Amino acid sequence: MTTDCLFCRIVAGEVPAARVAESERSIAIRDINPAAPVHVLVVPKRHEPDVGALASSSTEDLADAFALIAEVARQEGIATDHRIVANTGSGAGQTIFHAHLHVLGGKRLPER
Ligand code: 5GP
Ligand code: ZN
Repeated sequence: MTTDCLFCRIVAGEVPAARVAESERSIAIRDINPAAPVHVLVVPKRHEPDVGALASSSTEDLADAFALIAEVARQEGIATDHRIVANTGSGAGQTIFHAHLHVLGGKRLPER
């Protein structure tokens, strides 16, 4: 746990967030500034700075995150139509340097 990391603090329950699902290794929360009618963040509980670092350090954490994405997509009614996004680095729009995956849907999404 990195105490100055917002998502570590959300995982620990120190900062409130709208949790929609949880698994052994990840949580799913609603994005505070949604870009689509459904915008959920799947956040691995263990701190890594980005999804690549997560994949390199734990295939179990990565697999768990993707399994939770599938569960959230079913739960939110977007199992057949959703987008998964992982920004890596500030140049790609990453603002929180604790690995997370965006799950977007609920409307027709632009091509990119
Ligand atoms: P990134 O830009 O790093 O890929 O994604 C970070 C996301 O976290 C953004 O979409 C932003 O709206 C969301 N976010 C930032 N602060 C909070 C917060 O305190 N709570 C929640 N639920 N989402 C947040
Ligand atoms: Zn963290």
